[in-house]
Amino acid sequence: MSSRTQQHALLHLAVLVLFAAAAPFLANAQPAAPDQTAAVCTDPAADGACHNVPKALRLKLIAIPTILVSSVIGVCLPLFSRSVPALRPDRNLFVIVKAFASGVILATGYMHVLPDSFNNLTSPCLPPKPWGDFSFTAFVAMLAALSTLMVDSLMLTFYNRRAKQGGASASGAAVADHESPAHGHWHGHGHGHGDIVVAAENADVAKPDGDEASKVQLRRNRVVVQVLEMGIVVHSVVIGLGMGASQSVCTIRPLVAAMCFHQLFEGMGLGGCILQAEYGARMNSALVFFFSTTTPFGIALGLALTKVYRENSPTALIVVGLLNAASAGLLHYMALVELLAADFMGPKLQGSVKLQLLSFLAVLLGAGGMSVMAKWA
Ligand SMILES: [Zn+2]
Repeated sequence: MSSRTQQHALLHLAVLVLFAAAAPFLANAQPAAPDQTAAVCTDPAADGACHNVPKALRLKLIAIPTILVSSVIGVCLPLFSRSVPALRPDRNLFVIVKAFASGVILATGYMHVLPDSFNNLTSPCLPPKPWGDFSFTAFVAMLAALSTLMVDSLMLTFYNRRAKQGGASASGAAVADHESPAHGHWHGHGHGHGDIVVAAENADVAKPDGDEASKVQLRRNRVVVQVLEMGIVVHSVVIGLGMGASQSVCTIRPLVAAMCFHQLFEGMGLGGCILQAEYGARMNSALVFFFSTTTPFGIALGLALTKVYRENSPTALIVVGLLNAASAGLLHYMALVELLAADFMGPKLQGSVKLQLLSFLAVLLGAGGMSVMAKWA
């Protein structure tokens, strides 16, 4: 099926982006400019008594499998909920689990990624001339949110066009009408040319008897998961990289446990979104694999680059800071527009105040939990 090849192509693209992000660290091995802040900015042994290379290495080697396992558990937990009858997509509990997941994603953007970016780009180790004059973090985050909107909108058009080409000219005049009242803000994209487009879906999607609106929604959920995974993965690699490159036992030791919980929680957030994309086992395991391996990959990368990578070198600060800012904007848009607004303005939650309040509580719980985690990683 061509949509599967496209999804794979997307994943490959994401991997490429990751490696491209890592490349500058390899390329730029020179230490920071030696000036008054040089002591803080370049000296790897600045952490004094905590500096212990073999002990740090042992901790990192323990961290890799532990974090890997907790990531897998976290992201699979919502997926296995499929087999629990109370968690079927049409049940209320499912909506609440999704709301929790959205809260986690939102807090990842606001509480983990955005402050990191501010810290990176306002670091005293950076030359104050361009970096102190202008809030690059806010600017890049804003641009990223807008770009996500653009990519999102174009991808939907692309999906719809392809469905139009692939599908037969089924009779669908009534479909557009049928689709519009059921869904919140997003239906407008497909709506304009909806009569042919939506009907053509019949040929393509797994459930031939499902109604067209839910197919459009499903396609949307799939776009969301792919974009979301990219945004989350940036943070996962960056925190892994930080740990991998650190030689301070005092920093690493508490970080191992914190990052396990971090990945467990974030995995639950992502898992909730993967669940609603209703992929097959192969795509699901690809998404799980991709998410779970990124932090261990980051640690391994940090280990490999220990000699050349300095967390406080200008290059690392700028690259990581800009990546974090972009990822914050992306997560902000995704969590608020695609996940929360889409659900809260949707027919299911609009139909019940009680469910709305419960979902809101779940959002607060997810966001609160992830915010607490921000204290460590
Ligand atoms: Zn974090």
